[in-house]
Amino acid sequence: MANLDPEMMQESTATMQSALPDFRNTEIAFSYLSDKELKQMSWLFTLMNKPWLVQTGSTIGRWAVQWNIPFARSIVKATLFRQFVGGASLLKSLPTIEKLAHYKTQTILDYGVEAKESEVDFNATLRENLRAIEFASGNEFVPVVSTKISGLASNPLLEKVARGDELSRAEEEAYKAVIKRVESISLSAYEKGVSVFFDAEESWVQAPIDDMVNAMMRRFNKERAVVYNTFQLYRHDRLDYMIQTADAARSEGWIFGSKIVRGAYMEKERVRAREMGYPSPIYPDKASTDKGYNEALRYLVEHNDTIASCNATHNAESCMLMAKWIDELRIDRNHPHLNFSQLYGMSDHLTFNLADCGYNVAKYVPYGRVEEVIPYLLRRAQENASVTGEMSRELDLIHKEMKRRGLE
Ligand SMILES: Cc1cc2nc3c(=O)[nH]c(=O)nc-3n(C[C@H](O)[C@H](O)[C@H](O)COP(=O)(O)OP(=O)(O)OC[C@H]3O[C@@H](n4cnc5c(N)ncnc54)[C@H](O)[C@@H]3O)c2cc1C
Repeated sequence: MANLDPEMMQESTATMQSALPDFRNTEIAFSYLSDKELKQMSWLFTLMNKPWLVQTGSTIGRWAVQWNIPFARSIVKATLFRQFVGGASLLKSLPTIEKLAHYKTQTILDYGVEAKESEVDFNATLRENLRAIEFASGNEFVPVVSTKISGLASNPLLEKVARGDELSRAEEEAYKAVIKRVESISLSAYEKGVSVFFDAEESWVQAPIDDMVNAMMRRFNKERAVVYNTFQLYRHDRLDYMIQTADAARSEGWIFGSKIVRGAYMEKERVRAREMGYPSPIYPDKASTDKGYNEALRYLVEHNDTIASCNATHNAESCMLMAKWIDELRIDRNHPHLNFSQLYGMSDHLTFNLADCGYNVAKYVPYGRVEEVIPYLLRRAQENASVTGEMSRELDLIHKEMKRRGLE
């Protein structure tokens, strides 16, 4: 380094800065995979592109693991689990975390367990979240832990609070316990130098989640973004609500943590609205969701001085737009307030090309035992089976890389 001419160095840094990521670069996207691993991934995505197989496999798989059928666990472990889960426990996820770090990608730890319904389960999720925060505090590659309030509270209770119904004494106590769990997670993250993302959920439970998370941001985000809320931009009211939250944060003097997503429950939302006879909260078409999403994204990039954000998407256009805007506004690519994220096992062409160009990127890495993460895995398989352009593009990219390596 000492022998290099500083002017040349400056020039080469400037040139590097100006090159935007090329999401078609499969060499960078898949360099973390050996030939054998790439072939396995190709095989798995080919299978997942057959909707009938995923449908049948899901039914049999869920049943077989539940009933401890010999080999069921091993089959899931060697296929979906290996592709989409970091490991069976925090410690077992370490090799995944270190591998991602080697490719300049951070990890957001996500305890892969689904919505629960008993106080015992809620407290177990709380303890697991606290363990994850402790673990993250000792690992520089894990800046964030993510959690879902539906793992800490009963859905009927959240729904009742959202409707503004009067709670019984027992329900009031239960709701106080939920708030306490959310507080312990946020306080622990604050004390241990970690951040926490609260996922967005169905619209009929989201209002109490927003209230709790806003209270936590107000309390713990004075010096840095400890707590982040999530905004689903497929909802037509969310852009305004996000801006309103940003205004409140600015006037009250706290840093707003905003993770944006398009939203995972579109079908469910529409069906419920239809059945119950209220207007759907979701935009009528994909183009309107995309427009709303990219407007929110632009707002977050422009207001990076007071908002810390995460662009959580597998949409290449939204990733490219954010990358371009960061450069156009001459913001450092590794500005701590500007982050991208994809799910582990998906959209490597986005993650590793962004990381290679110096942007902050993290994979959402779920962890947990096979039987705990089965619902998560089946959702991933079903998502990949649905006939979307995005998924076949993923398989195309795998084939492109296999050809480049002379494997087919
Ligand atoms: C890191 C990460 C964290 C996430 N966390 C959450 C979370 O906390 N809560 C949550 O709900 N989801 C979450 N998701 C899932 C997310 O909401 C999307 O379902 C998923 O990422 C697909 O959207 P996309 O932007 O990646 O890609 P795209 O393929 O571009 O978009 C697909 C999405 O567009 C929307 N859409 C599709 N068709 C229509 C239509 N006809 N009309 C209106 N909208 C339409 C839907 O939201 C659909 O999921 C997360 C995703 C990632 C990558």
